[in-house]
Amino acid sequence: MTKSRTDRFDVAVLGAGAAGMMCAAVAGQRGARVVLIDHATRLAEKIRISGGGRCNFTNLQASPANYLSSNPHFCRSALARYTPQDFLSLMRRYDIGWHEKHRGQLFCNDSAESVINLLRAECESGGVHWQTGCVIEEIRREGDDFLLLTTQGTIRAGAVVVATGGLSIPKIGASDFGYRIARQFGLKIVDTRPALVPLTFDGQAWQPFVPLAGVSMEVDIATGSGKTAGAFKEDLLWTHRGLSGPAVLQISSFWRPGTPIEIDLFDGEEASDWLIAHKKGSRKHLANLLAERLPSRLADAWCAAAGLPGAQSVADLPDKPLRQLGEALNRWKLVPSGTEGYKKAEVTLGGVDTRGLSSTTMMAREVDGLYFIGEVVDVTGWLGGYNFQWAWASAVAAGEAVAEAARGATAVA
Ligand SMILES: Cc1cc2nc3c(=O)[nH]c(=O)nc-3n(C[C@H](O)[C@H](O)[C@H](O)COP(=O)(O)OP(=O)(O)OC[C@H]3O[C@@H](n4cnc5c(N)ncnc54)[C@H](O)[C@@H]3O)c2cc1C
Repeated sequence: MTKSRTDRFDVAVLGAGAAGMMCAAVAGQRGARVVLIDHATRLAEKIRISGGGRCNFTNLQASPANYLSSNPHFCRSALARYTPQDFLSLMRRYDIGWHEKHRGQLFCNDSAESVINLLRAECESGGVHWQTGCVIEEIRREGDDFLLLTTQGTIRAGAVVVATGGLSIPKIGASDFGYRIARQFGLKIVDTRPALVPLTFDGQAWQPFVPLAGVSMEVDIATGSGKTAGAFKEDLLWTHRGLSGPAVLQISSFWRPGTPIEIDLFDGEEASDWLIAHKKGSRKHLANLLAERLPSRLADAWCAAAGLPGAQSVADLPDKPLRQLGEALNRWKLVPSGTEGYKKAEVTLGGVDTRGLSSTTMMAREVDGLYFIGEVVDVTGWLGGYNFQWAWASAVAAGEAVAEAARGATAVA
């Protein structure tokens, strides 16, 4: 819907993604006059492509421990007030089927589209005005109001909620708009980088693994130390350019350029003891023996990388190279050359510094009426539905606060 010039709304929500739609609906249903603006013409594209098209919309185990932020306590209040069960109640109201896939991860039975339809219906019942395909050229303060100069005219709003997300997947509308607005109003930005992203490797040492694209197995993976350490047990996937799969996406959020990641391909059991124990009474070839524990293509490549003859009986091999091979299987240490970047990253680490925001309302401490929610904020979830749970929870916190503020302003007037 295209608005005429200088309409006034209680709230302008910028970005019609997961957080923006939820916030607009909550504020609208509590009586605020809300406009939801997006520069894209299709709503919530990230929901549409999420979870392989089935949207991993929350995680039953979501807690502050599943989020990275330079202020790890910031997300606590919003997550406690809007829980996965709250979103599930909403799903039940709309009769949307879901299932648990893995470790508390909840997916739609049919399509991510049903979550978009739910949010759209919630916005409709809150009387939210839509303004899509609308580019915001400038935001100014005028008295207590904000003036939004857009390609579809000027909009006046008592409050602005920035829900424009992070930098990942620019081809479906991601932009740095939220960070620019934050800076304009004096907020700080914690350095941003791609996260939940495949890692790339180059150089001679990687050559033996290039033909493994498509191979996958469960591993233990770790990186970092102390407070910045991360460790997961998840599936690893070899790709044409490096490593991916849930294990690597998870660890990528903790990985720092130039540092190694460490992978255990043997499920915690000492591989060298296992290999040497199999020397007795066995004529198995090394590669065949390894293929009892690893995908066979990986077993072959692993022998080649170690310079060991896969087609030789393990009983004929000396202990020393077997121990070295076993050690490498338990502690495969490798330094990624980089990541696949924002074009493949599921999320952006960093963002609007939470020290400038209220953790109960998401409002900027020094700018009355300016709120930041969702991925634009320096709160980044692990893989597994945590990012949508943050989008819902931060959106509800701001939606309730902004509606309350609008009621207060009306009462005073
Ligand atoms: C491939 C993929 C799969 C994912 N799968 C999952 C999953 O299954 N579970 C999970 O929890 N998380 C998943 N995520 C992460 C999740 O999608 C995001 O964390 C979440 O969408 C963030 O919500 P948001 O509302 O803050 O931002 P977004 O959903 O990114 O929405 C931001 C909106 O702002 C708009 N916008 C941007 N710039 C401007 C501007 N200048 N002017 C106006 N509008 C603007 C955009 O068009 C967009 O509509 C996935 C991400 C990707 C990329």
